Amino acid sequence: MAAAPPGGAVPADLATAAFSRQQNLVDFDDELVRRQRCFVVGSGGVGSCIGMTLARMGVAHVTFVDMDTVATSNLNRQLLFTPDQVGMNKVDACKQSLERSHAFRTSAAALHCNAVTRWADIVAEAQEQHMTAIFNGCDHGGFFDIALQALARALDSPCLYTAASTYAYTYQVDSYGTAAGEPCLLCTNPPAHSISIDDFAAASGAGRASEDAAGAITAEEALAVLKRVYQSEHELLPGMVRRSIAAASDGAATLPRTRGAVLRFRSALTGEILAELTPARVLAHTSLAFIPADPKPDTSSVGSWAVVCCMGSMFAVNCWVQRLAGQDVPPMTIANINAQRGSVWREQMGWDSFKFHPEPSDGCTLCGFKAPGMPAEEVAAMAGAGGAAAGG
Ligand SMILES: [Zn+2]
Repeated sequence: MAAAPPGGAVPADLATAAFSRQQNLVDFDDELVRRQRCFVVGSGGVGSCIGMTLARMGVAHVTFVDMDTVATSNLNRQLLFTPDQVGMNKVDACKQSLERSHAFRTSAAALHCNAVTRWADIVAEAQEQHMTAIFNGCDHGGFFDIALQALARALDSPCLYTAASTYAYTYQVDSYGTAAGEPCLLCTNPPAHSISIDDFAAASGAGRASEDAAGAITAEEALAVLKRVYQSEHELLPGMVRRSIAAASDGAATLPRTRGAVLRFRSALTGEILAELTPARVLAHTSLAFIPADPKPDTSSVGSWAVVCCMGSMFAVNCWVQRLAGQDVPPMTIANINAQRGSVWREQMGWDSFKFHPEPSDGCTLCGFKAPGMPAEEVAAMAGAGGAAAGG
């Protein structure tokens, strides 16, 4: 669908005159930017700010996705929302605010849904709108991030992937392209299955997992744990559990209750899930309720505010537009903006970008990248530094 001028109250020359200053920028292709069709998945602190910025840059189209409604406690940082929109679906409020105040040559659409359980709607929107960019502002977890990256790679035309997340005084931005031979999020930062080992041990009725634990967990018991943790009855789960138990116990139908066996089961289950999140398979799922969520930090006690949300969002849009222009953008950036307290990443205010060495691989299931492993001299250098180096 071609981009339609929003509203109707916008003066005809605004669509060109409003963008004259960015047309003067070096390394900025305004004609390229105005052709971009952007999928903003998650429309809260990060997504609403990203969508607003994309409209101010004059992209062709923005579709907002979210399942939540606007709450009063959102108003300190989710910049598109106004007090009269409290109680509205976030996506409808984003669209309304964009058209009212921020869109001069950008069309907007709203998709109110749970992106995990209504994945078919996400796929359909990405295909029908011919998305060229996916912005991930969802905090569902690492497996959902992989699914969106696979979607970006599965679409007919090139689609860049950018993600942003914020936490108190820290923001993280991930930026990936889809070019052949370019490693993806799965190569460089694979998700770990977060399900608790002790959950499985307890499923067989006794205590914590240990190396000498007796007894075994049946497939039904393991499936019950997954259904409870995932809050899902997804049809793929029983087969995934059965095959993962077999892989972890030399083909047996039950899983020994030892720590080692449970770790092997969890690793096999991760492989089962990732096998469903390849570009070849990801378009076919109607629901992604076979993936786990990451444990959620308690944002109501940790706190969140306008500056970290805006800085993370702006940094994400900047990474995207520079990658769009062909620049060599780092795949991951983590920033701390608190000069006093620092963070685990830096002792003082500042930011670091990371280039990864992918794990040695015969071919990533998502992007096909073949990783030879880290050069021997770099392994030696890291060992000499006590193995503390985080990246390039
Ligand atoms: Zn990959």
